[in-house]
Amino acid sequence: MLLVAEPVLGPEERAAVMAVLESGWITLGERVRTFERAFAELHGVADAVAVDSCTAGLHLVLKALGIGPGDEVLAPSLTFVATVNAILYVGAEPVLVDIEALQHPLMSIAQAEAKITSRTRAIMLMHYAGHMAERRMWRDLASRHGLLLIEDAAHAVGVAGVGSYGDGSAFSFYGNKNMTTAEGGMVLMHNPEMLERVRQMRGHGMTRSVMQRLVARTPHYDVDMLGYNYRMDEIRGAIGLVQLSRLEAMNTRRAALVAQYRALLARLENRYEGFVVPRPQSGLSAHHIMPILLPVGANRDRTAAEMHLAGVQTTIHYPPVHTLSYYRQRAPGLHLPLTEEFHRRELTLPLHPKMDDSDVELVVNTLENALENAFAPNYG
Ligand SMILES: *Cc1c(COP(=O)(O)O)cnc(C)c1O
Repeated sequence: MLLVAEPVLGPEERAAVMAVLESGWITLGERVRTFERAFAELHGVADAVAVDSCTAGLHLVLKALGIGPGDEVLAPSLTFVATVNAILYVGAEPVLVDIEALQHPLMSIAQAEAKITSRTRAIMLMHYAGHMAERRMWRDLASRHGLLLIEDAAHAVGVAGVGSYGDGSAFSFYGNKNMTTAEGGMVLMHNPEMLERVRQMRGHGMTRSVMQRLVARTPHYDVDMLGYNYRMDEIRGAIGLVQLSRLEAMNTRRAALVAQYRALLARLENRYEGFVVPRPQSGLSAHHIMPILLPVGANRDRTAAEMHLAGVQTTIHYPPVHTLSYYRQRAPGLHLPLTEEFHRRELTLPLHPKMDDSDVELVVNTLENALENAFAPNYG
């Protein structure tokens, strides 16, 4: 079965993990610190804070920025629920926004602006599929209205400029992301003092970590803020360092696979009205996933089932957050027509660096065959 996503893990990761186990220091220590510095350098910033997930990272970014009860945060509905959950964790109100267009499925700037109220404090961007949001336009909007700008950068690790849109960003190293530590995340913040607040909140709000107490030869610490346990351990830090050294090569491979997909899918775009291959409006992408929209009237479940029989896994990104029960109860009347249509027709094709050119051909041929039968009128 050709899977939608697969991590690239090899002997270097195995050796790195073994070295940690043999070292006797298995949680937050020098390897995590080295990983943070290397991650920051790769993204052109001074420093970073490693956490145990992107969700935890988003929570800490919102906390550090002082967002809380009474505040509204604009966010796309076409995202993973974690984006919205982080806003709810701090007691703020997520205000979900439609996408720009079926070809450009990121949050619409015009729709976002239309939803700004006197209570709006921040905008949470999500670089869907790795497609970078338009930096200048979002920064203009944020500064015109005095809003904070946050990036859920789970899809966009390694792209030039990611993390520089505004006040804070969080990345994910979950198993299906462009680089992985199994579970894990990273936070960047524009303001160095806020980044240090995030570092402190990550470890129960303690003024000195175990490692810092060892180095400073003191058993004393204070707690002067409410913190959390969102630490990354050394095993993940070690895996992260190896993955980071390969990130550019892995992202380059993804870009080549996407270019091949686009060339082959042009055939279907010409043949079927409404067959859409979304593209980044900014021209920049980490190529995290390969979403397509099936033509109007094509039976998606049947297409996916036929592809599965032929050995090709597909999936859907995402069920819109505002249509899931928990969030629908909170905002029952909300209707986001483009997001809903995108979701009805979307299919995510396999994309990961272990694929070769013949895999892309197989996927496109399989899709083409499945579409032949996707319009049968009386299929249950
Ligand atoms: C994966 C993902 C997350 C959550 O990442 P975790 O590291 O699993 O917490 C958040 N937002 C988006 C858009 C994601 O794809």
